[in-house]
Amino acid sequence: MDHYDYFIVGAGFAGSTIAQKLASDYHKRVLVIDRRDHVGGNSYDYYDDHGVLIHKYGPHYFRTNSKKVFDFLSRFTEWRFYEYRVKAYVNKKLYSIPINRDTINQFFDIELHTAEEVKSFLDAKRVKIDVIKNSEDQVVSEVGWEIYESFFKNYTKKQWGVGPKELDKSVCARIPIRTNTDDRYFTDTYQAMPRDGYHVLFKNLLDHPYITVARNTDFSDINNKVSYKKLIYTGCIDEFFEYTFGRLPYRSLRFCHEHYNKEYYQDWSQINYPNDYEYTRIVEIKHATGQICPHTTVVKEFPLSEGEPYYPIPCPANHRLYTIYRKEAEKLKDVIFIGRLAQYNYLNMDQVVEQTLHLCEILAVE
Ligand code: FAD
Ligand code: UDP
Repeated sequence: MDHYDYFIVGAGFAGSTIAQKLASDYHKRVLVIDRRDHVGGNSYDYYDDHGVLIHKYGPHYFRTNSKKVFDFLSRFTEWRFYEYRVKAYVNKKLYSIPINRDTINQFFDIELHTAEEVKSFLDAKRVKIDVIKNSEDQVVSEVGWEIYESFFKNYTKKQWGVGPKELDKSVCARIPIRTNTDDRYFTDTYQAMPRDGYHVLFKNLLDHPYITVARNTDFSDINNKVSYKKLIYTGCIDEFFEYTFGRLPYRSLRFCHEHYNKEYYQDWSQINYPNDYEYTRIVEIKHATGQICPHTTVVKEFPLSEGEPYYPIPCPANHRLYTIYRKEAEKLKDVIFIGRLAQYNYLNMDQVVEQTLHLCEILAVE
């Protein structure tokens, strides 16, 4: 039986970051497994049959305010700096999303010129709510009912299968409301795509003589065949405990990739469709990867309640169930749960890397 210091389940950002740190900085022997036929987790990209670099599990735009995270990843990839912009298709027109001054002017057919004017305009629209309890409160308390109904309500229902009232405020609070004309989706200091793709970034992250990688390998099939000191688990926490306390709900997606024999399909990397069609958005990631190529591939995202667990669903009942699993997890001294699925938390890539780097610092002193 092979022996390892650490057995890591999942080769996404959480598993691969920790594998790299443990091997390079602490000279530990690690085994990383993934049940998929590739590493990279949900961030995985590849060249499709037409030679277009696409993201298998939906668009992954890297962004962070953390110099530490950016510097760490920069050891494994060059970057292509890219600030992404998104449009929302509402009433047959394209609007800038996040909501900004241009969106407000276009939507209400008015001409506001300054941030102060926008603020006073929105003051008259806002619904006064003392305690913001959910995503509906979050949006209507900032912009009122009209924008909520046209841009947020139906997109959220489609994406999550429940309305914004059923979801934590943090879900819609991800999207800022702006009084200026900045139309970038986010304003993080570092916004970039790995120059040669995420697959190259992950190949480099896991390239170390002390790291062994096994693809197409499920934890339940191999656990009894490996000897190790500590387990790091980045899969679903409810699955680890064989759903003893019930299933944690996740939102899934069906990705429908379509290829076109033209250079670009749309003018923007991402167009959201809050009110029309069964899909939430069409993404043409080529805008972000910067690939020069005469063809293009786009992806439409159709939300599903069953399937691969892509999104933990943030709401009070799910947090309560997760807390029960968390308490079970804390009893296992030699098992560490980290990552979006193991922590049942709607985390971005940089947040996962940041938390994983922090975990390594703790492991180092143990
Ligand atoms: P994952 O990437 O999910 O990796 C977990 C891995 O564990 C998986 O590969 C899985 O196969 C494996 N695994 C699970 N259980 C087992 C088992 N029992 N045995 C073996 N292997 C197992 N973040 C951003 O920062 N920017 C974005 O633009 C962005 N866009 C996104 C778009 C979509 C559609 C989705 C779903 C997510 C997006 N994210 C984005 C979030 C990003 O995907 C996550 O932050 C990141 O993937 C989390 O990394 P992780 O390692 O925790 O989990
Ligand atoms: N959202 C919305 N309309 C939009 C964009 C976002 O209602 O045009 C809401 C929706 O609930 C979504 C959440 O804001 O799930 C977070 O959006 P984000 O773009 O961050 O979603 P992700 O890329 O994580 O799927």
